[in-house]
Amino acid sequence: MIPVQGLNGARVAVLGLGRSGLVAARALKAGGATPICWDDNPDARAKAETEGFACLDLKKGGAFDNVARLIVSPGIPHLYPSPNPVIAAAWAAGVPVDNDIGLFFQSFATSEWNRFDTVPRVIAVTGSNGKSTTCALIHHVMEVAGRPCQLAGNIGRGVLDIDPPHDGEIVVLELSSYQTDLARSLTPDVAVFTNLSPDHLDRHAGMGGYFAAKRRLFAEGGPDRAVIGVDEDEGRSLAGQLSEGPSDDRVIRVSGAEKLTGPGWQVFAKKGFLAEYRKGRQVASIDLRDVAGLPGAHNHQNACAAYAAARAVGVAPKVIEQAFHSFAGLPHRSQTIAEADGVRYVNDSKATNVDSAAKALAAFKNIRWICGGLQKEGGLDPLNDAASGVRKAYVIGREAAQFAMQLNVEAQVCGSMSAAVAAAMEDAEAGDVVLLAPAAASFDQYDSFERRGEDFVAEVTKRL
Ligand code: ADP
Repeated sequence: MIPVQGLNGARVAVLGLGRSGLVAARALKAGGATPICWDDNPDARAKAETEGFACLDLKKGGAFDNVARLIVSPGIPHLYPSPNPVIAAAWAAGVPVDNDIGLFFQSFATSEWNRFDTVPRVIAVTGSNGKSTTCALIHHVMEVAGRPCQLAGNIGRGVLDIDPPHDGEIVVLELSSYQTDLARSLTPDVAVFTNLSPDHLDRHAGMGGYFAAKRRLFAEGGPDRAVIGVDEDEGRSLAGQLSEGPSDDRVIRVSGAEKLTGPGWQVFAKKGFLAEYRKGRQVASIDLRDVAGLPGAHNHQNACAAYAAARAVGVAPKVIEQAFHSFAGLPHRSQTIAEADGVRYVNDSKATNVDSAAKALAAFKNIRWICGGLQKEGGLDPLNDAASGVRKAYVIGREAAQFAMQLNVEAQVCGSMSAAVAAAMEDAEAGDVVLLAPAAASFDQYDSFERRGEDFVAEVTKRL
């Protein structure tokens, strides 16, 4: 645990008592503060009370008297579509609003570090897609490089739940826009922006608000190095704003799509090759085409971002290349789960929307495509543009027939995962890829995308 510093003796309100809220309450207590907790859910309050935390309805008048700060969980809207009433009450009382990420950055460094040869560093990753993959890959590179490393945030442990860092430790944080929007301190040593596409727009009142939330990671103190994906206008604009000029190598520009030129520091992937350029010279290159854990152009973008972050903390290109080859991939993200009789089986259950499924489709050829589920707004058109590698679709979900009608590839209405896997395996020939990339949420048939992916793995495994 990281005890919270700077609030010793203070009363601190904690709103939302899920995983991050409870950890925040514990870390506040460990640092000498008194947490005052609230959650609208009585079960969550009961759990906090059994740990000895006082619960008080923060909507009641006077609840913010003598309160130094309000700590809010990421799931609670603070401004749009409308402010949570407790947050509005904190504003009215003039109490600063913060979250566990802000507390982490204010508390991470301690006087203990005076004994260290190398101070611990934080690499924080944000962006619309690829955050988890990029974070897991950086963590794996650090392990292969023999550097102490912890993974936290949206992936791994809660940020305040990590162990106090060792000499030279790297902490890799995955941060969503909900988290960067509210944190009062955001001071990573290396900040990474993967890419931007529309998401969570109601929570941020549109694309501008969404981008503004993410760019706070680069603006509240400013990292020593910024790794910026420049495949969209927003990334290009951010890189331009952060750098003093074209040769300023505090900004590492990253592209998964095109060759980058200029006197600065660049990492890009083109036609399956990653290249690093600095001061106009090529420093290193890696052939990504046979890296099994990172298939497709979207994963090559993640590889470039992870490579740049690892280079920013001094890992050698050779070590990074070695680590890429032993990266197993994350469960449910373009994950090869089996290979038999020349057929490859890939689980991308995390492709819960049309954009991410289109990326998965573009990564493979000769696809037996298992798709369908609870359809999201916006239609399936982008999938049809990306479906040139599809031999046939096997559609699951309660509305499978309706989903199938919108596809312009041959589609069999299967309904269940079991029927879809059986049909796809029956049809598959050597050289085919049986790919689960649903392009839809799972909630019509499963509790989560993880359960859906596990079902796919089980159905495949029992037939092999
Ligand atoms: P996040 O943590 O940002 O949600 P993940 O690494 O968990 O990202 O990947 C989520 C989904 O998005 C996966 O299904 C994957 O196929 C797709 N994806 C991964 N990386 C990228 C990328 N760089 N660009 C677009 N889509 C991606």
